[in-house]
Amino acid sequence: MVKMVKKNYLLAPGPTPVPTDLLLEGAQETIHHRTPQFKKIMEEAIEGTKYVFQTAGDLFLLASSGTGAMEMAVVNLVSPGEKVIVIVSGKFGERWKQICETYGANVVPIEVEYGNYVAPEKLDETLKEHPDSTVVFTTLSETSTGTVMDIEGFARVSKAHGKLIVVDAISGLIAQPLKTDEWNLDVVVAGSQKGFMLPPGLGFITFSESAWEKAKTNKTPSYYFNAFAYKKNPAPYTPAVNLIYQLKKAVEMLKEEGMENVWERHRILADATRAGVQALGLELFSKRPGNVLTAVKVPESIDGAKLVSLMRDEYGVTIAGGQGSMKGKIFRIAHLGYMSKFDTIIAISALEMALRKLGFDFEYGTGLKAVEEVFEREGV
Ligand SMILES: *Cc1c(COP(=O)(O)O)cnc(C)c1O
Repeated sequence: MVKMVKKNYLLAPGPTPVPTDLLLEGAQETIHHRTPQFKKIMEEAIEGTKYVFQTAGDLFLLASSGTGAMEMAVVNLVSPGEKVIVIVSGKFGERWKQICETYGANVVPIEVEYGNYVAPEKLDETLKEHPDSTVVFTTLSETSTGTVMDIEGFARVSKAHGKLIVVDAISGLIAQPLKTDEWNLDVVVAGSQKGFMLPPGLGFITFSESAWEKAKTNKTPSYYFNAFAYKKNPAPYTPAVNLIYQLKKAVEMLKEEGMENVWERHRILADATRAGVQALGLELFSKRPGNVLTAVKVPESIDGAKLVSLMRDEYGVTIAGGQGSMKGKIFRIAHLGYMSKFDTIIAISALEMALRKLGFDFEYGTGLKAVEEVFEREGV
């Protein structure tokens, strides 16, 4: 048997592929962060990132992964004993709950089972029952299930009740429309290794005027993530210099493509991926799937963990399995960041080959045909 050269294809929802232009951008010499030269680079990177978040308000870059930005939101906005609402539909909603509880908040969760979503009407009911709550925590794209939430709807309801709204957009930003200012979002967090096409290591956080007002009276102690330190100086501690070179370039690339176009590109890749897996007779896991990733139920006859490891270790195609209680039950194909139509072709082709190898029967090309038809229909 001839051995194939193994090329690697990263099709998981973070870290995502980094284009060579951005890798090279990071290979420049590290300069001192307290120089006018670096200050200018950082200012430009922040301005470009504000466009991606669709905000003219405050935005900070953190030398942390996305979870650091989540923690920063909590330590600046929630005091011990304070009542907050957390929308939980998967692992990352659970993370909001855990962080809030770690800092002594009184958490009222709105919980639905994995794969399901929460409607804004449900949030409205909960806020009516808990008028003494102050902040709503939610997730744009619940990466563990592939579900996208109606953030615009949640924001409208939260504001009608006079509450702050904090959004984990770590995987959703860039793939899925999000308009920080237009939708009245108080804090939005993200991370570099998802839609930004960058390596891991940068966190992002926005603050609205109402968020600053709230932070002023906050009682939770904090140091590294104290937002006022960043308001005074956007680099209070050594920033991730080389990642910021890369960010500056990445947001230039996104601006050149245009956010509307970036969102449409992800929408088309998501439509094609869903069409491909459904043509194979597989079932989508999420009741409200988004443009970030497609979560698919593993067919009864197949070992889900084996499917993922076969694709990764033998074919070089990395998709994600299920997390936590979803382990072995679902697999997740990302269409996030530096991706185009032939990434989807690779994903569905590798999936077809792996499924056949594991004994799942269908005619070769069934999924690919559906994918190609979507691309033809969309004219891409
Ligand atoms: C990836 C992810 C996180 C965690 O981010 P880290 O960068 O790993 O800290 C949090 N929330 C969502 C929705 C994510 O997709």
